[in-house]
Amino acid sequence: ERAARAAAPVTPGALADGSSVPLLANLGSADGAANALELGAEGVGLFRTEFLFLDADRAPSVSEQQEQYTRLLSAFAGKKVVVRVLDAGADKPLSFLNDAEEENPALGLRGIRALRHSEVILREQLTALAAADAATDADLWVMAPMIATVDETRYFVALCRELGLKTSGVMVETPSAALIADRVLKVADFASIGTNDLTQYTMAADRLLGTVANLQDPWAPAVLRLVSEVGAAGAEIGRPVGICGEAAADPLLAVVLVGLGATTLSMSPSALADVRASLARYTREDAERIARAALAAEGAAEAKQAANAAAESAP
Ligand code: PEP
Ligand code: MG
Repeated sequence: ERAARAAAPVTPGALADGSSVPLLANLGSADGAANALELGAEGVGLFRTEFLFLDADRAPSVSEQQEQYTRLLSAFAGKKVVVRVLDAGADKPLSFLNDAEEENPALGLRGIRALRHSEVILREQLTALAAADAATDADLWVMAPMIATVDETRYFVALCRELGLKTSGVMVETPSAALIADRVLKVADFASIGTNDLTQYTMAADRLLGTVANLQDPWAPAVLRLVSEVGAAGAEIGRPVGICGEAAADPLLAVVLVGLGATTLSMSPSALADVRASLARYTREDAERIARAALAAEGAAEAKQAANAAAESAP
C-alpha cells in the first residue's frame, strides 16, 4: 500500500481554473519532513524553531542549530522553506529570554521584541540559518514573529541582509501589522499571516483560555477584514502573502482566505489532502465571491454559513 501511494504523485494545490495555490507544511522539527512530502507538501510554510530552545537553560550553539537547519533544508531540496526565528514568550515562554514576572505575557516582551532585546540569540540563529542555506539548495525564506511596526520590520530585514539571508519577511499576527501591511510590505519581501495570534489579538481573547474559546474563531469578520487588508496590500505591490495559522487547515475557510488574497497556504500535513480537494472545486472568481459573502457577515457563525451558501451556489 505504501508503494502504491508513493507511485501516485499528489497534484500541486490549484483552483478549478488552474491558478496555483501552493500548499505547504507547518513543521515543528525536521523529523516530520518525510511525512509532509509524502502527503504532497510543496515546501514548508512555517518551520517553528522553538523545539531547539524549549526545556533548555541556554540557547543551542550555532553549530547545533546549523545541523538541524541543514537536515530540514536537505529534505526539501529545490523547494521553498519558510523558517520562523524563535518565537519565545506568552504561550511559549523561555526561562533565559522571557520575564516570568510580566503580568500580561501575551502583550509583553515576546517574539521579535524579545529577540531584539537579546540580539545575540537572533544573530546566532540567523548565522546558523545562513550557513545551512549555503550548504543546501532549498529556497530558504526567514520570517520574524509578532511584528507590530515598520521599524521592527526594518530592523529584522536589515539584520537578515547583514548576515547573508536573501529573503526575509514578517508574520502578520497583530492587528497593527495587518492595518499597515502596505507599509510593512514595502520593507519585507513577504508576509505570512498567523491566524492563531491574529485572532487572539483582534478579539482580545487569550488563545489558551477555555472560557473565551468561542471568541478564538478565525471566521470572525474582523479577522477576515484584516486578512483582506494584507491580501490587498500584497497584490498591490506584488508581494506574496501566505497563511500559516490553523485557519488554513479548514477546507472552506481556506477558499475564503484565497479569495481574500492569500497566495499560499501552510498547515499541518494531515490537513493537506482535504484543503487540496476543496480548492480544486472553486475558480478564483468563486473564491472571491465566497470570501465577499463571509466578509459581509455579522459574526463568525454567520460568516461560515454565508460562505457555505455561496459555495453551494458555485456552478
Ligand atoms: C499563529 O499565531 O497563527 C502561528 C502560526 O504561530 P503560533 O501558532 O506558533 O503562534
Ligand atoms: Mg503566533
